[in-house]
Amino acid sequence: MKNQPQNPEPVDAKTRRAVRPVICYPTNKLVLGGMDYYQQARKELTLVDEKIVAPRDAECFLVPAGHFFRIISIDGPQVGDLNLWNAHDLKERFFSGKTRALHGTHVSVGDRLWSSLPYMRPMATITYDTLDWYGWDDDGGGVHDVIGTRCDPYTNIVLGGGEYHHCCHSNLCRALAREKNFPLSEAEPFVHDVLNVFMCTGFTKDTHQYFMKASPVREGDFLEFFAEIDLLGALSTCPGGDCSTAHSSDAATCYPLKIEIYQPTAGFPADWRSPERSAYSGNHGMK
Ligand SMILES: [Zn+2]
Repeated sequence: MKNQPQNPEPVDAKTRRAVRPVICYPTNKLVLGGMDYYQQARKELTLVDEKIVAPRDAECFLVPAGHFFRIISIDGPQVGDLNLWNAHDLKERFFSGKTRALHGTHVSVGDRLWSSLPYMRPMATITYDTLDWYGWDDDGGGVHDVIGTRCDPYTNIVLGGGEYHHCCHSNLCRALAREKNFPLSEAEPFVHDVLNVFMCTGFTKDTHQYFMKASPVREGDFLEFFAEIDLLGALSTCPGGDCSTAHSSDAATCYPLKIEIYQPTAGFPADWRSPERSAYSGNHGMK
């Protein structure tokens, strides 16, 4: 549709298109908390917990504020779909859309994972990324995106597929239901758009459609985060495996992922505090 316009170009079409783009959310005023803090703290880490996420499943994990956590590729190339909540209030959850608007389509070291409105504060900061060498490929693809949502059984049906119960959305629902002892119907509304860890994605140049290609992740690669607040996380091992072909089915080869939780051995500076929730009054101009 977008490539077959019903209207002719106006005479000044070229001029209209040539105007300079403006960054919607300039981040130069964002205080990124001095990465030195984090780099100093991560120099010596003590492993305090670990968890394996089986293929085509998901697991929840807790990370206290001031700790680090890593998502690690172990047996083979595998993509992970990450949800994050405030461990004490599930209403505060990762805001993929605003994180994208602030930091771009794909995230890496120094980028923050922001929480939903009305909280709007950094939940986590990315502190290490063994795939940071990847950059942008010739297709416009990058790694660790906040442009996808998560594979889900509803879209699968819309697109003509049958019932499939191991999409990331379903995996995350089951994991949260188990963790909180909720019925599935209570857990499902808390599951939200993800950070696609290790996934290599972009938009096609002609139709600007979301694409995926084989993840460059290999055994030993990891993405590391600093928990800015007490976090409850859930990680799904996508049924797409390395996402080189298909998802929402049992067709792809899938591998487990590992989660490791670390405490900074020397602690964190005594004056460090979790960021406060947004200072906005919440009035919205209501009289
Ligand atoms: Zn998935």
